Amino acid sequence: MSVHVAVILAAGVGSRLQDVVNDRPKGFLEIHGKPIIEASIAKLIRAGISQIIIVTGYEHEFYEELAVKYPFVFTVKNEAYAATGSMASLKTASSLISDDFLLLESDLVYEFQALSTLQNSAQRNVILLSGPTQAGDEVYVGIKHERIVNMSKDIREIEVLGGELVGISKISVDLYLKMIAQCEQADATQYHYEDCLTDVTDRSDIGFRTIENLIWGEIDDKSHLERVVETVYPSLLEKETSAMIEKSPQRKILLNPGPATTTEGVKAALVVEDICPREGEFGALVEGIRQDLVRVVHGEGEYECVLFASSGTGAVEACLSSVVPEDKSVLIINNGAYGVRMQQICSYFSISSIEYKVDWGEPIDFTVLDAMLADHREDLSHIAFVHHETTVGLLNSIDKVSELASRYNLEIIVDAMSSFAGIPIDVKRQNVHYLVSSSNKCIQGMPGIGIVICKRDSLHRSREIRQRNFYFNLYENYRFFNERKEMQFTPPVQLLYALRQAINEYFLETEKGRADRYSDNYAVLIKGLSKLGFEFLLDKQHHAKILTAIVEPDDDNYSFTAMHDYLYARGFTIYPGKGGQRDTFRLANMGAIDSNDIDQFLHCLEQYMQESEITL
Ligand SMILES: *Cc1c(COP(=O)(O)O)cnc(C)c1O
Repeated sequence: MSVHVAVILAAGVGSRLQDVVNDRPKGFLEIHGKPIIEASIAKLIRAGISQIIIVTGYEHEFYEELAVKYPFVFTVKNEAYAATGSMASLKTASSLISDDFLLLESDLVYEFQALSTLQNSAQRNVILLSGPTQAGDEVYVGIKHERIVNMSKDIREIEVLGGELVGISKISVDLYLKMIAQCEQADATQYHYEDCLTDVTDRSDIGFRTIENLIWGEIDDKSHLERVVETVYPSLLEKETSAMIEKSPQRKILLNPGPATTTEGVKAALVVEDICPREGEFGALVEGIRQDLVRVVHGEGEYECVLFASSGTGAVEACLSSVVPEDKSVLIINNGAYGVRMQQICSYFSISSIEYKVDWGEPIDFTVLDAMLADHREDLSHIAFVHHETTVGLLNSIDKVSELASRYNLEIIVDAMSSFAGIPIDVKRQNVHYLVSSSNKCIQGMPGIGIVICKRDSLHRSREIRQRNFYFNLYENYRFFNERKEMQFTPPVQLLYALRQAINEYFLETEKGRADRYSDNYAVLIKGLSKLGFEFLLDKQHHAKILTAIVEPDDDNYSFTAMHDYLYARGFTIYPGKGGQRDTFRLANMGAIDSNDIDQFLHCLEQYMQESEITL
């Protein structure tokens, strides 16, 4: 049974480390330039945690800043932190705890397998133990019949030794409630949760898992710190790197315009226990995903997310066919293949559409658009356009289209398939009515989920429109989920778990972090390609920096297929071009890849060109 909540105890003063921490909480001790709490949070996200509750006290502002940075972090302060033990802190979090959770302390440095072992254990209450550490300060745990019986710093009090207490546990809500009751009864301010666990163990089934060779350390004083910096951390790094290489499916670098390369965490999230998607537990998962997808584009409170089991085109089709009234038209901006696709969808549904055609790869001329809107203002209800036109890598401005739309009192439908989560979007500020994307591009999930983010008022009004479709009706899917907390039709269960993980990883990286990484990838790519002599289809000022269309070499030795096969055999997938003014091939720089991957790609490309004697 894996859980999705973690509680981190972080209230303590860390008095034995005062001159090292310098008025920071212990969690902000830095090892190799990174606060240990941030390293811990990254591991929790990788282990499938989607909500982290931090109990603060001493210098609580530090943690409150983390809660601003990461939407999945919540803080609660133990006001009496200086005078109370960890049980008082744990009790402080009671208003936020309604599910089973992982419990850990802020000053731990540990291997990922500590978390995955607890997550994979079938028991609901599990305490993690390790082999001998010789760390000083060890807490020994006594066991009997596969259960915990007692804990002590004095090994002579232990009859059968299970191992050393690590300080990472999986706690069920039931056990938590028993602990709270025990704490109230004990009425001891200095009560620690380890003691409380021992005190309730005869009334609760508390299991354990021992990882003999687990690498970990807790940092309570300077000698602990020294041990962690000098031995724990280096061996941890080495072990985790080799474990990553051994276990994972071979990593491929996808430079095609989606599906994009995914992380280990997202791939691992696909393997989950079977569940009926009509169960409340699954409904809660989907509800969390819907809310967080809205949050990615800052639409909290005013926007609703509707999900479909489909590719991105399904979501575009759902939106267009559900929101344009029968007696109105939609103006579609066509400066690439995806604009054309929107027109095709409208024609299949006999939805009246007006085309504003721009040569592919050319930016929108807003004077022309304005004039067209003025001409057709009586007929129109919507403007539909593509944000990042993936055909050529062109970015159309949401701001400018939106400004014109409000002048003519029209709603906008934005195909943000390949920009959502890659380029910052603010649906409230930019006054977007419908925004469409999918699970497999910049959000870095698996393919198969279509996403429509709708302004709630607009979505509610769309109810009036005669339903043109059965499966893909936007309002009906929304209404059904809202009333039942179930998706209307069988969802792709495992893909939603993977999407949950992808969203957690997105928030961990932060909006700016992801956009910056993509920009870096792009910059390295452009620089390297220019050095090799390549030219680009578009003027750089129009590049979206997510995908680039590159002019094909004018050389008899060049063949796209041969180049593709050469690179594919070396782990890089490239993509053919699509109908611009000149022949192109395309390279996307989205997905779980970084500038090192791009460097390696450029190196292979250079080799190919030399071996095939292609000159530019
Ligand atoms: C990828 C993409 C689509 C189509 O998505 P599918 O998942 O292949 O249906 C639509 N619009 C844009 C802008 C895209 O980049």
